[in-house]
Amino acid sequence: KVRVRFAPSPTGPLHLGGVRTALYDYLFAKNQGGEFVLRIEDTDTARYVEGAEEYIEEALEWCGIIADESPKKGGKFAPYRQSERRDIYDRYTEQILKTNYAYIAFDTAEELDAIRAEYEAKGDVFSYDNKTRNRLKNSIALSEEEVQKLLDEKTPYVVRFRMPVDRTLNLEDIIRGKFSVNTNTLDDKVLVKNDGMPTYHFANIIDDHEMEISHVIRGEEWLPSLGLHTLLYEAMGWEAPQFAHLSLILKPEGKGKLSKRDGDKFGFPVFPLNFTDPVTGNVSKGYRESGYLPEAFINMVALLGWSPADDKEILSLDEMAKEFDLNKVHKAGARFSKEKAEWFNHQYIQQKSDEELLEILKKSDLNIALSDDKLLKVIHLMKERATFPKDIYENGKFFFEAPVSYDEKASKKAWNDETSAVLGELASNLEGIDFTAENIKNVVHDFAESKGLGMGKVMMPLRLALVGELKGPDVPDIMELLGKEETISRINNAIN
Ligand code: GLU
Repeated sequence: KVRVRFAPSPTGPLHLGGVRTALYDYLFAKNQGGEFVLRIEDTDTARYVEGAEEYIEEALEWCGIIADESPKKGGKFAPYRQSERRDIYDRYTEQILKTNYAYIAFDTAEELDAIRAEYEAKGDVFSYDNKTRNRLKNSIALSEEEVQKLLDEKTPYVVRFRMPVDRTLNLEDIIRGKFSVNTNTLDDKVLVKNDGMPTYHFANIIDDHEMEISHVIRGEEWLPSLGLHTLLYEAMGWEAPQFAHLSLILKPEGKGKLSKRDGDKFGFPVFPLNFTDPVTGNVSKGYRESGYLPEAFINMVALLGWSPADDKEILSLDEMAKEFDLNKVHKAGARFSKEKAEWFNHQYIQQKSDEELLEILKKSDLNIALSDDKLLKVIHLMKERATFPKDIYENGKFFFEAPVSYDEKASKKAWNDETSAVLGELASNLEGIDFTAENIKNVVHDFAESKGLGMGKVMMPLRLALVGELKGPDVPDIMELLGKEETISRINNAIN
């Protein structure tokens, strides 16, 4: 049975890379008819950020990435918050200490700093490993009596992994293939801290085992830990899951990891939702608040590092789940593009019905002074040009606010000495008609012809008079929506 987990630490908001990991976890699980689990890895109390867990849950929900099991929802393997699983970890700490793969170490931070300084003075780098562990204060270097004495004195200790000497580990990653690592390049990582809480490495493999996780799909920053994790499974006598490590999401210019700073600099969000830093109070922009549709956002995120068949670009979450294939996930980093993100949003706005967009606009923080009826018509005319829902309203302002000034450059282009007289005459021709776009077009057409003017020569100043600039949808459509009275009043304003 395929079971995949997303295991964020609540140390801050989810960034784009985190969302993509969660999405690939989800897509792979669904593709395989398996289950998707959300587990909160909160054993590191020093890095814990208040509200981060709620943020993560809300963000995933907004994206439509719904977990089958989670802290909120519960499930067969509850609890799903590591801070609530202490008794499980205690049991396995006891188990690993009975093997040759772990030992207890009493070194204090000061003692470790001292030895590190000693190494550095000689130009060497200290590492707690098989070359140094015999010189330190642990159950390998000390006699049994010495260890017992320290324990009796309640000396704080940590549990460390005993990295085997000079073993070649043959590792495999679904995306990267096979590679090997020599254990001499790895150190004796802390498995359990002196407060009794396991570190990420130990808690992570215990939970993946306990929760029957079959595939671990996570960011490439964890690739260097694969050797240790593989040995931990060996030490516990457990079968390891399969692993896939996802490449970085790169800055728009292609070099280096995309960061929050890039977002600030280039004006795009890097988080799914707004995030208020609990310490500084600074707000970082989120996709939701910036007017992205969740469908567009996840579609964009999914394609950062994966290409579906036929290079299709627009896919729903279900379609993505149907097609998702870890073997088609790119080994190279994916470059983030703000333009592409906006392109996706534009595409998804086109897919929405006018009524759906009406609901979105009414729920937004725009102060809309327009009846639903009118707004629906504005939506109908303006959505084609919109990247964000608010564009419909903001770029369509001329529908409910007469121009107070006229764009200077446009005036030079559209207006000449005769224009006022021409538009005045046209206005009187419009008085008597039933004010539909169709009728308006016919009247303008006949009028232009009778004057020996091209259509453009009439439409351009007309547009300027109605909109204030040379922008917007077809002029007769604008006029129909404005209505006869408002149209004629705007023409009169412009020509007087
Ligand atoms: N808690 C780890 C993180 O925040 C999870 C890494 C993993 O998926 O193994 O990235």
